[in-house]
Amino acid sequence: MQDDVWRAALGEIEVSLSRGNFVTWFKNTDLLKAENGIVVIGVTNVFIKQHLEKKYSELIVTTLQKQGIKVDKVEYKMMSAVSSRNDNNSLQPSIDTSEATDSFSQSSRPNANPNNFKQSLNERYTFDNFVVGASNELAFAACQAVAQHPGKKYNPLYLYGGVGIGKTHLIQAVGNAIQTRNPDAKVLYIATEQFVREFVQALRGRTAATFANNYRSADVLIVDDVQFLAGKDKIQEEFFHTFNTLHQADKQIIMSSDKPPRDIGMLEDRLKSRFAGGMSIDMQAPDFETRCAIIQTKAEGHQTDLEQDVVEYLSSTIQTNVRELEGALNQLLAWCDVRGLIPTVAIATSLLQVNKSRPKHLSAKQIIERTARHFQIPIEDIVGPKRDKDIVVPRQVAMYILHEELRLSYPKIARELGRKDHTTAMHSVRKIARESQVDASIRSAITEIKEYLYA
Ligand code: ADP
Ligand code: MG
Repeated sequence: MQDDVWRAALGEIEVSLSRGNFVTWFKNTDLLKAENGIVVIGVTNVFIKQHLEKKYSELIVTTLQKQGIKVDKVEYKMMSAVSSRNDNNSLQPSIDTSEATDSFSQSSRPNANPNNFKQSLNERYTFDNFVVGASNELAFAACQAVAQHPGKKYNPLYLYGGVGIGKTHLIQAVGNAIQTRNPDAKVLYIATEQFVREFVQALRGRTAATFANNYRSADVLIVDDVQFLAGKDKIQEEFFHTFNTLHQADKQIIMSSDKPPRDIGMLEDRLKSRFAGGMSIDMQAPDFETRCAIIQTKAEGHQTDLEQDVVEYLSSTIQTNVRELEGALNQLLAWCDVRGLIPTVAIATSLLQVNKSRPKHLSAKQIIERTARHFQIPIEDIVGPKRDKDIVVPRQVAMYILHEELRLSYPKIARELGRKDHTTAMHSVRKIARESQVDASIRSAITEIKEYLYA
């Protein structure tokens, strides 16, 4: 009975949240008790507990009430991970702030030469210079927990989210923190593209064993942008074995990606389930306040005191990508510096206007291809006759982006997507415009597609 109620409630909650948010916060929850107005919800870790308390209590209450449950008070209780997941990762019930334990025994690797392995980590990325806000606090806390207890807490740790929101910064900060505390630890950071390149070279040069040994002997392996494993069967096989070797030895694995494991197309199921077997965290683009704080911090780094209106202008103009935000700030500061001017909104506006002119080469074809790729459907389908929902929505999104970004006419948009009737294009554009107001998953799909196009 309780199970049914919760399943129904989750069904409702799922449609009101983005998929990423739903999965992160609700997927492994349970209704443990609902008696005399006291509702107890089981969660798998303290981050989720805090987040549900802070952000979703109201949603939970109203949804349960709709199911006919009396709710005066909601409590959250930690369940052991084992009861809600059937793998044996060591997800602990709470963050331990006690002294960090030293998980590497130095004698086990007498030949380790840490200096060989440090190069790939960029020391610029630390916890100290990372600005924490609502959008990234969970990721930040999990990364700190992993840095304190590598291999023991969340293994693997998997951060995912859009471009330029601080994933690389955070996962490298973990590596730097571990390396600082334990200079002998073999901390490897590698971008997936580089991993792939090295692997191909190793195969050619018949040094595959050396390649494998290098990664399999890591204490901490940090792999950035694992979505690029998609479609590369051989490297997936190799990575699977590396992953298992490390995981079985309780060595920490940290990954980042632009999407959750299950949404990476052409990735072996066994890897998907490994990737999702520890802690997956959906990172969002920073909100306005966080963006302001980031700008202030970075300006201070340049020994500049920016006026609040300039800070707010930049934060409201550049909304998703912190890298772009930083770029705009640097440009503004440099421009003012050489002219001996104090940065103002007027100067910032004129500088950003110049940046805003669209790249000249963006074509309708690129937009359609990128949209199809984003939704992982074949191009033939998006421009073809099919009318299944999972084809129609991407098609409508493509139409919307063509309209927004290229200002194409409706008849032209219709033609680009193989439609005869221009009213179809018009309705589609309006529908997506409307839905993107209320549906965070559509909104983030559009943002992501655009980010790729303009990257
Ligand atoms: P991603 O890997 O998600 O694409 P990055 O980690 O490369 O993004 O971040 C892009 C830039 O923005 C980096 O220079 C990073 O230091 C900076 N950045 C992102 N988020 C923050 C933050 N919360 N605080 C400080 N700097 C940030
Ligand atoms: Mg990155």
